Amino acid sequence: MYKFKLNDQVKITSGKDKGQTGKIIQLLPKMDKVVVEDKNLYTRHIKPAAGKPGSKTKLPRPIPTANIAIICPSCQKTTRIGFDITKKPKLRICRRCGQVIKSIK
Ligand SMILES: [Zn+2]
Repeated sequence: MYKFKLNDQVKITSGKDKGQTGKIIQLLPKMDKVVVEDKNLYTRHIKPAAGKPGSKTKLPRPIPTANIAIICPSCQKTTRIGFDITKKPKLRICRRCGQVIKSIK
């Protein structure tokens, strides 16, 4: 079970968007990265083609999970995630306040 889930609120702890918070919109467990909405943006230039003019668009780039921390919905603080393995499926627990971290669907 992966520590992070879609729609989790996370804080960025390193890089150019350090200190900002956002929502996970994509998980890349194999790369150990996640995409956070509107964070770590880069500008992509789209070449003019087939009669369409070129344009610039901003896209979020994946962030290594080492550079993010989850924000506990109960205590509103960044925390480490623990697991309650007595439950099935396993529950995610806030190591700070002990509350279950529910995933938002
Ligand atoms: Zn907590």
